This record gives sequence, structure tokens and C-alpha cells, in this order.
Amino acid sequence: MAEFSLDLTDEQRELRDWVHGFAVEAVRPAAAEWDAREETPWPLIQEAAKIGLYGFEFLATCWADPTGLSLPLASEELFWGDAGIAMSILGTGLAVAAIYGSGTPEQLLEWVPQCFGDVDEPQVAAFCSTEPAAGSDVAAIRTRARYDEARDEWVLSGQKAFATNGGIASVHVVTASVDPSLGARGQAAFVVPPGTPGLAAGPKLRKLGLRASHTADVFLDEVRVPGRCLLGGREALSERLARARAGGSAQGQAALRTFELTRPTVGAQALGIARAAYEYALAYAKERVQFGKPIVRDAKIYTIFEGTSEIQRLVVARAISGARLR
Ligand SMILES: Cc1cc2nc3c(=O)[nH]c(=O)nc-3n(C[C@H](O)[C@H](O)[C@H](O)COP(=O)(O)OP(=O)(O)OC[C@H]3O[C@@H](n4cnc5c(N)ncnc54)[C@H](O)[C@@H]3O)c2cc1C
Repeated sequence: MAEFSLDLTDEQRELRDWVHGFAVEAVRPAAAEWDAREETPWPLIQEAAKIGLYGFEFLATCWADPTGLSLPLASEELFWGDAGIAMSILGTGLAVAAIYGSGTPEQLLEWVPQCFGDVDEPQVAAFCSTEPAAGSDVAAIRTRARYDEARDEWVLSGQKAFATNGGIASVHVVTASVDPSLGARGQAAFVVPPGTPGLAAGPKLRKLGLRASHTADVFLDEVRVPGRCLLGGREALSERLARARAGGSAQGQAALRTFELTRPTVGAQALGIARAAYEYALAYAKERVQFGKPIVRDAKIYTIFEGTSEIQRLVVARAISGARLR
């Protein structure tokens, strides 16, 4: 295995600075307004599309980076700008990751352009995996997918929770159980094309953060989708189910594949939010005067902060490696 390094290449530095520039110039000035409005910031999504930050080419370039660092870097910078706007721009990537991770090349070509729309009329997409009783435990998904052989259609029924862009998306990608007796290994992912009858969404959920980003429950009432909407196709599903029935692995499980592709960026998003919070707090502590002095009284505070974070890194590194690090 190649040695892992966090040293950035010239291209990665360029990408980071480019996204940071967009966060400074476009995202930060609009952040308070869209947070208060609690609405999807379509003009910002369009701006991102115009400069090439919203679209498949951007994601594909990031996924092609063998170090895996490009998308986390971009996510950190965008979330440093504002978490709600950043989620509105990057949320579509979750559905696209599901199609990319489990779909055939033909499915990629058919559905991914519909996820993003175009610069004149951008669209968003939703990935619906979580359910009221299935959060961390994806094996507990109750949404069912039944194959109607006579019509070559899949019929989806169930309820999804916390779906980013749920109900306002063009394309919804839904995970469902084909064979509940197999738990997570009996599941598959399906594309629900734009305007499909039977898919409805609850109202946009009110949240404490990421308020510009649309989050909603999604209800599937006997939703019929063409056979070609099963990601990966029937043959691959049959092989996977046969493998699972014989006690084989869950390799190729749709939800887990999507999470593997996207979860590192979720960590980077949290880092971007934390960096911004630290910078805001520091700037305020320098500016806020009490008892005749700024509340950051002297440089020792920085020293303690730096020292503490250094110690934390060492403690964590020691726990992971088991080595005696000094
Ligand atoms: C803003 C927002 C957007 C989202 N967007 C999407 C989306 O687009 N699509 C989608 O499918 N989902 C989405 N989600 C759902 C998200 O993926 C889930 O919230 C997440 O998977 C956790 O599930 P849960 O909320 O049910 O928490 P739970 O699974 O109930 O977990 C609660 C806590 O218990 C901990 N925990 C769970 N199991 C264990 C265990 N065995 N041992 C120890 N600790 C445990 C967890 O780490 C967590 O801290 C979104 C959520 C939010 C808040």
C-alpha cells in the first residue's frame, strides 16, 4: 500500500484556494440571509454551476484523485464559508455517489445529468437511506422493493427520514429491502425519476443549523419505477442475493458503498465548521472589551490553546498506534 501523506500537491493547493475564494466571495456574504430565510439558495447553486463547482465533472475529478484528499479539501473550504449553503451545493453529490458507486455506465449517463440539471436551470438530487427506525443501523431498513415481472417494474413502499433535498429533488435515489431476511445484504438502490407518482415529501424540517439546506421526510406509496432504475441491474442483484443466501459477504451493498465514498467528506465538513467557529470566536474575543481590556487578555491564551491541541493530537495518535509518541 502506498504511504499515506497529508502533504498537498500543487493541484490540491490550487483546488483548495479556488474553493476558498468562492467561499469568501460568494458564500460568506450570502450566508446570514439564506440561514434566516431557511430556503434552498438556488442563486448560489447556480453560481457554483457557472464556475464548475456544481456538476459531475467536478465530482469525477475529485474522485479520480488517488489520495482521496480533493473532495474533503473542497468540502472543508465550502463548509468554512457556510454549512447550510455548502450542504445545498454538495448534497446532490450523495445521490450521485450512489449512482456512481452502484450503477452501470448506462445508468450513470442517463441519471447523473438529470441530478444536476444545467447552468440555466440547476436541479438537485436526494439520497434516501435513513428511516425513522434505521439511522446508524442500515440493516434495519423497512422500505420494501417488490419486482412486478409482468410489467418489468419495481414497486417501492416505505418512509424515509432526514433526506437532504427530499421532495425538491429531480432524482431521488432510494435504498430498499428486496429480501428482508438477508438484512443489509438483501437491499438495493433504485432511481426514482423526476415526477414519479406516489413519492411525496413532508414539510422542510426546521433545524438548529444548516438551515438553508432542505431536509425532509419522504413517503413512498406503491411507487412504480421501470426495471432499468435498479442500480447495477437485475443480474448483479441476483448474484449478490445468491451470494448472501450462501452466507457470503455484503460486498456491493448500496448504502454502505455510498457512505464509504462520502463519509470522509462529512468529517471534513465538520472541520470546516469548527475552523470557522474558532476564527469567529477568536476575532470576537480580540474585539470585545470588558473591564477595560479585550476578553482575550494576553498571548498565553493562544499558547495554552496551541499546547492543548498538540497534546490532544499526541494522545489520539498514541491511542491509534499504540506507540510511545513524544
Ligand atoms: C441535516 C441532516 C441531513 C441528512 N441527510 C441525509 C440524507 O441526505 N440521506 C439520508 O439517508 N440520511 C440523511 N441524514 C440522516 C443521517 O445520515 C442520520 O442522522 C445518521 O445516519 C444517524 O442516524 P440517527 O439520526 O437515526 O441516529 P442514531 O442511529 O439513532 O444514533 C444516535 C447516536 O447513537 C450512536 N450510536 C448508534 N449506534 C450505536 C452503537 N451500536 N454503539 C454506540 N453508539 C451508537 C450514534 O453514533 C449517534 O451518536 C441526515 C441527517 C441530518 C441531521
